Amino acid sequence: MTVLHNRVSQAQLKQKLYEEAQHRTTISFYQYFPISNPQQFRDDLYKALNELQVFGRIYVAHEGINAQISVTDGNFEALKNYLFAIEPLNAVRLNIAVDDDGKSFWVLKIKVREKIVADGISDPGFSMEKKGKYVNAAEMNQLLTDDNTVVIDMRNHYEYEVGHFDKAIEIPSDTFREQLPMAVEMMQDKKDRNVIMYCTGGIRCEKASAYMLHNGFENVFHLEGGIINYAKQAKEAGLPSKFTGKNFVFDDRLGERITEDIIAKCHQCGQPADTHTNCKNDGCHLLFIQCEKCAAKYDGCCSAACQTVYNLPLEEQKELRKGVDKGQHIFNKAKARLRPPIKNKVE
Ligand SMILES: [Zn+2]
Ligand SMILES: [Zn+2]
Repeated sequence: MTVLHNRVSQAQLKQKLYEEAQHRTTISFYQYFPISNPQQFRDDLYKALNELQVFGRIYVAHEGINAQISVTDGNFEALKNYLFAIEPLNAVRLNIAVDDDGKSFWVLKIKVREKIVADGISDPGFSMEKKGKYVNAAEMNQLLTDDNTVVIDMRNHYEYEVGHFDKAIEIPSDTFREQLPMAVEMMQDKKDRNVIMYCTGGIRCEKASAYMLHNGFENVFHLEGGIINYAKQAKEAGLPSKFTGKNFVFDDRLGERITEDIIAKCHQCGQPADTHTNCKNDGCHLLFIQCEKCAAKYDGCCSAACQTVYNLPLEEQKELRKGVDKGQHIFNKAKARLRPPIKNKVE
């Protein structure tokens, strides 16, 4: 019988990964293309990738595929050949993670989903087949010199806060699904302009570009591979960076510096700072920007109140957290950004 799901325990799998002698590379890729039978596509993909000892998390939907995987160096070429042999994935951009030990996954999970990026679009006439034009770093810089161009940032507010393209418009919403109609609304009088959408890795702005076209915008572009790819291309080609500050990413560094400019302010004292951190109080874990001085003053906490809790013996801290609505206080990326601005919390 063919194995379509993993049947070994998590602990055993993790153990196996750490004993593995071969180095692994973490790769991410996505592609929007029509998949008529996502379940069949998923099963075929699982069989092939399982044979190649690929680990990771992949989503398959009618609109395409989104993957974050790791592969042994020995199987890298075979994986690439397999993927490129699937017509719509031929020459798909494989983003190699830098500063990575390849130990991020120890099992292969492929899930069929409604969408690869949840968008809240209910219009049956919407399709990802008509997308905006890709622009690379050089073309992006060129378009930005044109007064007829508007740039739209399709990321979250805390990402925009520490770094963005010069003159980029922020769509002030906490979720991508709210951002889409809001972007259309905000750009209503700019339908004849060049509209460039961008995001961190390209997957969101590519969908946003299709949505703008669907809503009657004519000259829509999106930054290929997002800010990550732009920074890489600009560096390699020696182009000036039109992106200022830091590119926020959810890894241990919480951001990659693109230029030396610090465009954000410490949420506690207002001095220039762009280092995101999570409040050290385990009952809070708020994601916020803190300067070095405040980090020292508050022991890495978001407020004097959290600092007091943080400095209690562990047992007492646990006692305090009992009965507290954990849904609001346990760290959660999605919830962290919905918390009110912390300025009011500081005495
Ligand atoms: Zn500060
Ligand atoms: Zn806190």
